[in-house]
Amino acid sequence: MKKQVAVLPGDGIGQEVMSAALDVLKAVEEQFGHQFKVFQGDIGGVAIDRHGTPLPAETLELCKSSDAVLLGAVGGPEWEDNPVHLRPEKGLLGIRKELGLFANYRPIKTFEALRDASPLKRSVVDGVDFVIVRELTGGLYFGEPRERRGQHQEVAVDTLQYEKKEIENVVRKAFDLAATRRKKVTSVDKANVLESSRMWREVVEQVAADYPEVEVEHLLVDVAAMKLVYQPKQFDVIVTENMFGDILSDEASMLTGSLGMLPSASLRADGFGLYEPVHGSAPDISGENRANPLGMVLSVAMMLRHSFGLEEEADQVEKAVQEVLNAGYRTGDLEGIEKIGPVCTTSEMSENVVEHFQPNYAMSGILAAYM
Ligand code: NAD
Repeated sequence: MKKQVAVLPGDGIGQEVMSAALDVLKAVEEQFGHQFKVFQGDIGGVAIDRHGTPLPAETLELCKSSDAVLLGAVGGPEWEDNPVHLRPEKGLLGIRKELGLFANYRPIKTFEALRDASPLKRSVVDGVDFVIVRELTGGLYFGEPRERRGQHQEVAVDTLQYEKKEIENVVRKAFDLAATRRKKVTSVDKANVLESSRMWREVVEQVAADYPEVEVEHLLVDVAAMKLVYQPKQFDVIVTENMFGDILSDEASMLTGSLGMLPSASLRADGFGLYEPVHGSAPDISGENRANPLGMVLSVAMMLRHSFGLEEEADQVEKAVQEVLNAGYRTGDLEGIEKIGPVCTTSEMSENVVEHFQPNYAMSGILAAYM
């Protein structure tokens, strides 16, 4: 398979984790005989410094002409006092909107080797494996009007607005995903209070009729927040509006314990997607080769699966990550969690993943023991 990938490392540890993830992508390429052409672009703070804008036109063009986008992270104290239109995060919001990426997937899966990383009891987090599908380009974060009013600006207004089609698009994605998993969709809303939520429920019921094999449940967002920490295993795919998804996905990230482990995908209907770790640019450890690259590496696996349909390759990357953790390798953020080996640097961690990626790795280990 031949594909073009736009690579936007961004700021801070974005550069470091991206470099690690590209090593893993190269290993996939070599092992499976694919050709991934990689072109680099600027976004965020580095783009402001080099081009005077967080999302240069050439970066957008590069992304539009590619088959998928990998993004590291944006932001940092250097740009904190910039006016709003010159903030690195504007680049992120802009690229999602410009590329029409309306569905954000965040898989929440606990790794056996890291179950003590969670602040919750083992009995609660063991075996957790679900995906939050968050609507990304509508709802409260984008609705108009949003403004301050009154003589003394003492009134503030935001608007939660959805069109049926926007809801249908993201809900279909959730059902398609559930159909490939354990066949359950939990739709989260606030239908006892919000009109937009009542319409959300209607649309979910309409779409559900096309997926008779998928079980559907509706939960109010407050109940969902509670169930995420006391019965997280009950979930398979959760679908929800933009702000609810933002909040619930951060809550859910704590089930796995470390921000550095979490990948995400932002997709549109045709399978095109932008893949990035959930964490930010971590200015406190940037440039020290200490960042955990696994969230970025797992984002590469999501790209292989969701944009390129390469299930086997994606499984293999995820398996390699699992094996590296089982073997006791830990970056600093995971230090102390059943650590067996010494603390790894970012580049050592990706080298370990690449090494475990070899198909005959387990066999060669067994043979080596007899030689
Ligand atoms: P952050 O995610 O960058 O860091 C939070 C904490 O987690 C820090 O202590 C950091 O060292 C640690 N951490 C994060 N990722 C890690 C990794 N891979 N390995 C090891 N440790 C890791 O969040 P923040 O400090 O609130 O934000 C820093 C900057 O990043 C801000 O400018 C913020 O706006 C930006 N940000 C960007 C994104 C994005 O690009 N998607 C997301 C969140 C924050």
